[in-house]
Amino acid sequence: MNFGDSQELQMVRETAEKIYKKLEGKRHEIFQKIKRNEFVQEIWDEIAEAGLLGAIIPPQYGGTGMGLLSTAIAVEELAKYGIGNALFVLTVVAESCIVRNGSEELKKKFLPDMASGKVKCALGVTEADAGTNTFRIKTHAIGKNGRYIINGEKTYITGADVADYILLIARTTPYSEVAKKGLPKMFGLSVFMVDLKSKGIKITKLGTRGIEGMNQCTVVFEDVEVPAENLIGQEDQGVWVMFNGLNPERILAGAGAVGLSEFCLRKAVEYAKERKVFGEKPIGAYQAIQHPLADVKIRQESTRLVVYKSAWAYDMELPPQEIMFLANCAKYLSAELLLYAVDRAIQTLGGAGFMEDNFLIILWDSARLLKTAPVSNEMILNLTAEHILGLPRSY
Ligand SMILES: Cc1cc2nc3c(=O)[nH]c(=O)nc-3n(C[C@H](O)[C@H](O)[C@H](O)COP(=O)(O)OP(=O)(O)OC[C@H]3O[C@@H](n4cnc5c(N)ncnc54)[C@H](O)[C@@H]3O)c2cc1C
Repeated sequence: MNFGDSQELQMVRETAEKIYKKLEGKRHEIFQKIKRNEFVQEIWDEIAEAGLLGAIIPPQYGGTGMGLLSTAIAVEELAKYGIGNALFVLTVVAESCIVRNGSEELKKKFLPDMASGKVKCALGVTEADAGTNTFRIKTHAIGKNGRYIINGEKTYITGADVADYILLIARTTPYSEVAKKGLPKMFGLSVFMVDLKSKGIKITKLGTRGIEGMNQCTVVFEDVEVPAENLIGQEDQGVWVMFNGLNPERILAGAGAVGLSEFCLRKAVEYAKERKVFGEKPIGAYQAIQHPLADVKIRQESTRLVVYKSAWAYDMELPPQEIMFLANCAKYLSAELLLYAVDRAIQTLGGAGFMEDNFLIILWDSARLLKTAPVSNEMILNLTAEHILGLPRSY
């Protein structure tokens, strides 16, 4: 198992550093956009130009084929400089579904444009009534004359206002019918690529916070027509297609959090070495300041290993349940790590921790989000207790 120390992965790190150096001059402009919740196209363009968007796409479809571990390292490294881009992650999620489950036609239609950055993709799973229980979603797609007609509503969809497509999870067999026929509840889900400019789609921004420079939206589908070839995998069998996307999402969310924890740590350590309030000793000499920072460093190293291992498991195509367990571990641990890291960095900086320009108080929202989304830590504990420990389902 190669945990991120090969020459190829070193190149990814250097690429991220180059992106940071290119963007450094535009720091003020970017920061203002983030504060206005505006998509930072400059970051997207740099990530695309560096080839990072196509790392899980095979070369015959315009990617580099370097894999999810490379993508995770890219996300982590960019986050170390405070550079995030949620649509980067969400587009990789859609790529993953197409690479692993898409038809040849779909691969040719979407992958080259996703690798080049021409196509951005949001992810449409959550519905207001179903919440965490995805099996209860009501958005449905009915097949008709080589098309699907889609009706329903998704909520909290990150970047729907700037994306070109949405990776949509819909029911092709309603939940009620699945229950009546005694079929497993995971039956009847299907995954589609839907053009967000299609007739019948209405996008409304929500007042959420948590992902820098991005909005969340409701997306309403009213008799939206989607070509049948945009179905990924088989009708009614979309559950594993979906997890081929959700696992990388959790892994990359973890990678971003590990990177951001380093961003916080660097800021805190730099400040703790300089700031003097009692005599000539810097505050970093006090154990009350230095022990928590050392603690963050230790937790960070162990979390990083789990993130890398889960990305490696995905690249090795280990059994889906194994990848899911590792992806869940990565998401769970990284959410706890990042929240702690931001908290300790803010504490170290005192009042300065609340200055927006130090970017820590802004990160507080993102760090907190990770305990709730993309999947909540409670659900990860539920799944681990039931499927890994074999304990009775608690709900
Ligand atoms: C900023 C932001 C960005 C998002 N981006 C996207 C996106 O791009 N695409 C998308 O599809 N979704 C997105 N989401 C939605 C997100 O994934 C959901 O909010 C999240 O999964 C929780 O669903 P819910 O809000 O309906 O909570 P609910 O399901 O109502 O849960 C409420 C609380 O109860 C807990 N809970 C529920 N059931 C159980 C149980 N059985 N045992 C223990 N605890 C339980 C949950 O953990 C949670 O803490 C985003 C959300 C936010 C806030």
